[in-house]
Amino acid sequence: MADVLDLTQGIIDGSVEVIDMTAPLHANTPILQLPPEFGQTAAFELEEISAYDERGPFWYWNNFRTGEHTGTHFDAPNHWVSGQGLDDVSQVPVERLIGPAAVIDCTAQVDADSDYCLDVDDIKAWEEEHGPVPDRGWFIFRTGWSSRGDDPDAFANADENGPHTPGATPAAAKYLAEETNLLGWGVETVGTDAGGAMGFDPPFPCHSMFMGAGKYGITQLRNTHLLPATGAVIIAAPLPIVTGSGSPCRVIALVNRA
Ligand code: MN
Repeated sequence: MADVLDLTQGIIDGSVEVIDMTAPLHANTPILQLPPEFGQTAAFELEEISAYDERGPFWYWNNFRTGEHTGTHFDAPNHWVSGQGLDDVSQVPVERLIGPAAVIDCTAQVDADSDYCLDVDDIKAWEEEHGPVPDRGWFIFRTGWSSRGDDPDAFANADENGPHTPGATPAAAKYLAEETNLLGWGVETVGTDAGGAMGFDPPFPCHSMFMGAGKYGITQLRNTHLLPATGAVIIAAPLPIVTGSGSPCRVIALVNRA
């Protein structure tokens, strides 16, 4: 077993690169917009308490308000009805926040079709080339969608029929959630399902299958292109909101550069 201090030494000497996969949190961070009959999540808001002034002469600080599912965030099993009664975000064991990354590159398919959905054949082809998806790993859907992340309209990519963003088919979601020992599924888009997934059978298959299997989701990832197909480690660190369904999350990847 390697000494954990080897990791810090690797970071210092550059043989381990630390990659931030997190989108910045601010008032324009894209959030999910549901049809108007449903409850809506709050955008990120910062309220200044003091800034080295009469309200607090020596200190600067803020209050913030936001939905649990804002920006780069973590979906806990209890987020979905299929995972009702399973772990809330504070109950997810910390060792299950860290795992190897398997990255599938579907950038070309998504460039050609914004509604592109990962299918079982894509996963089988990936496994043919790279081996089985890793035990206790994160399966990362690289789409290039994060390049739209500073433009909420382009990120949502909605028309009169709703949002057009990539995701996974019900069969692919079922395969990854039920036939593997993954920790979860990570995406670049606003949520773990395709924009059109309300109309899938079942609706929102990634949420339904992954949460139902006690697995997790991480969203609005950036810099997926800096990760190799295998060999990186991802740390996804949500806040331990007691009873919470998720949390904004710092996601960090460690990549060998030696
Ligand atoms: Mn979510």
